Amino acid sequence: MERVLHVIDSLCSSQMHGRGYTHAGDKKAAKFIASHFQKAGLLPFQKNYFQEFPITVNTFARPMRLKIGKQLLREGIDYLPHPACPAGKGKFVLLIKDSLVLYHPKGEIWLTDKLVHRLEDEQNDAPRFIIRKDIFWEAVQKSKKFSFKIQPKLQKDYITQNVIGYVRGKEVPDSFLVFTAHYDHLGDLGKVYFAGANDNASGVAMLLELAYYFAQNPMRYSVAFMAFGAEEIGLLGSLFYTENPYFPLQNIRFLLNLDLFGTGEGGTTAVNGLVFTEEFQLLHHINNEYNYLTYIGARGKAPNSDHYYFSEKGVKSFFLYLQGDSWKHYHHIDDKPPLPLSGFQSAFQLIKTFAQRLGD
Ligand SMILES: [Zn+2]
Repeated sequence: MERVLHVIDSLCSSQMHGRGYTHAGDKKAAKFIASHFQKAGLLPFQKNYFQEFPITVNTFARPMRLKIGKQLLREGIDYLPHPACPAGKGKFVLLIKDSLVLYHPKGEIWLTDKLVHRLEDEQNDAPRFIIRKDIFWEAVQKSKKFSFKIQPKLQKDYITQNVIGYVRGKEVPDSFLVFTAHYDHLGDLGKVYFAGANDNASGVAMLLELAYYFAQNPMRYSVAFMAFGAEEIGLLGSLFYTENPYFPLQNIRFLLNLDLFGTGEGGTTAVNGLVFTEEFQLLHHINNEYNYLTYIGARGKAPNSDHYYFSEKGVKSFFLYLQGDSWKHYHHIDDKPPLPLSGFQSAFQLIKTFAQRLGD
C-alpha cells in the first residue's frame, strides 16, 4: 500500500496540474506512469510506451475573477465557468426572472446545488457561469452588480498520449488479457486544479500494482496494460487506440477497465456484467470463495468509461468500479487525497485471481 499511496499522491500533486492540457500536466503524468512500467519490467509495443494522438480542448489555466457586488466568488468552490466558456470580461447588472438569471441578453448564469465540472472541445459565443444556489441567493440580496474576467484557451491539435506496455505470455503470446485505466483528469481552474484522486489516480494505482504483479508472475497469455489519456473529453484515448491497435482486437481474450477505485466498502459493480454472464459468474464465484468484497453488482452496457469502444468493436470487457458512501466528490476540486481505499487490497486480490483463472 505504500507504493499505492505514493502513486496516488504523485498523480494528484500540483505539479501534474490535474493531469490536463496546461503546464504539460498530461505529459508529466504519462512520464510518471511510463517510469513505473519500466520499473515493473513491462515491454513497449513500439519504440517507447507512448501512443500519441491530437485533441482539441478548452482549458482554464489563466487567472479568473468573478464578483457579485463586493463579494469575490471562489472558482471550484462557489462557481464554475461553463466548460465551453470563451474569454470575456465586463461589468453588468444581473437580470433575475424566477429561476432565469442573465447578466446581459446573451449572458447566462445557471444555478446548481452541486458543482460538477467536465471538459469540452469547443467554446460557446458568450461566457456562461454555473454558481452554487446558496452562494448566489445570499450574494444578490446585497447587490445585483456582477463583474467578471476570464481567459480560457481553446487548445487545438494538442498532442497528448496513451501509455501502453505488456508482459509477454509464456505459451500463447499473441493472445492478450488487457487492463485499462484512464490517467487524465480535468486540469487547472484558475488558482485551483482538479486532482482527480478517485477519478482516476486510484484506478491507475491499481493498474500499476497489477503490472508489478504480472511482470513477476507471467501467465500463458500476454497481459497488456493501457493507461489512456483524454477520457474526460469523451473517451478519446481509448477511441484512438481501438482505431489504431497494436495487435488485432480479436486477440483480446478479456479486458478489464478500472475507473474509480478509491472506496470499496460498498463493493464493486461490473458494467457489462449482464452482457458477459459467464465471466461475471466467475468473478462472483471467486469473490464468494475468498470473501474479498461485500457486494458484486452487474449492469448492462454503458458508454461511461474506456471499455466502451472496445466492447462496441466486439471485445469482451467489464468496466469495474468500487463503491461506498465514504466519497462524494465527483468532478469536484475536493476529489483529492487521502482516499478511503477501503476495498483496494481486496479488489486487487479479486482482479488478480479473476485474471489468473481467465489467463492461465
Ligand atoms: Zn471522470
